[in-house]
Amino acid sequence: MKIQTVGVVGAGVMGIGLAQNLAQSGHHVILVDISEEILESANKQIRNNIRFQSFFNKNEKVDNPDYILHQIKFSTNYKFLEDTEFVIENVTEKWDIKKGVYAQLDAICPETTIFAANTSAIPITRIASLTKRADKVIGMHFMNPVPMKPMVEMIRGYHTSDETISTAKELLAQMGKESILVNDSPGFVSNRVLMLTINEAIFLLQDQVASVEEVDRIFKTCFGHKMGPLETADLIGLDTILFSIEVLYESFNDSKYRPCQLLKKMVDAGLFGRKSGQGFYTYNGAI
Ligand code: NAD
Repeated sequence: MKIQTVGVVGAGVMGIGLAQNLAQSGHHVILVDISEEILESANKQIRNNIRFQSFFNKNEKVDNPDYILHQIKFSTNYKFLEDTEFVIENVTEKWDIKKGVYAQLDAICPETTIFAANTSAIPITRIASLTKRADKVIGMHFMNPVPMKPMVEMIRGYHTSDETISTAKELLAQMGKESILVNDSPGFVSNRVLMLTINEAIFLLQDQVASVEEVDRIFKTCFGHKMGPLETADLIGLDTILFSIEVLYESFNDSKYRPCQLLKKMVDAGLFGRKSGQGFYTYNGAI
């Protein structure tokens, strides 16, 4: 049975991509964030992204920003999530923020609603403990930019039921995506490796071993990676990288995850990467 209405909480880098992708796959979307200003910017961003991606797509309905935006309800009010069958949470990677969000979701959504956490590093079992429906909480780690990435890292929390996993897979199939299911652990598979790699690449820069371009070129030309670690950091968002590596550091109590000073300094200075226009590289216009 097709899932009709999906709640997307958080209209940042990931929430924007998800809302667009879900609307393009024929779902009604309720997109929630904390301010009208953020939602207006999300609306503009989705319009720009559809226009840009229509150069690669050739589907009139999917390419029509008015049609797609009509499928999305933008709101600061969590109450509109009361009719959703599935909610994907994409708020800032901070435990205190996630905590408040799940308390609201659990109180508002029907007990049958599935909650998918699109977190970078926080264990799903820990998130599920914030709700009274631990069997209906799953990790769905989408890749960025969401509409262009066909694979999702899916995480089974301690209590996640087989039924929840199968419904999540069904939703992904409706979105034209596949998944790889892994067990719960901080950072899962992808970010336990990636965050450490990016953090170490920033240490290389701090230690003046090589320039930004040189670090990235080594990964692209020697290993055949599409992007170097510093370009990837800019795409993800340096604030999200810092919060994620902090989660790994606290979770494992292992000094190998200590965040690099330069990363902290850049985040303090507001250099978040593509989303702020400046990170390791400079960006102009839409992301
Ligand atoms: P972001 O900073 O771009 O966006 C986060 C959004 O959450 C902001 O718009 C913020 O206003 C909103 N928010 C904060 N508190 C809220 C609340 N109480 N209710 C509703 N919205 C609230 O971050 P992002 O990059 O979109 O990351 C979101 C989540 O997805 C994080 O957990 C991150 O670790 C994860 N993630 C990020 C990437 C990536 O490449 N950026 C990839 C996979 C997963």
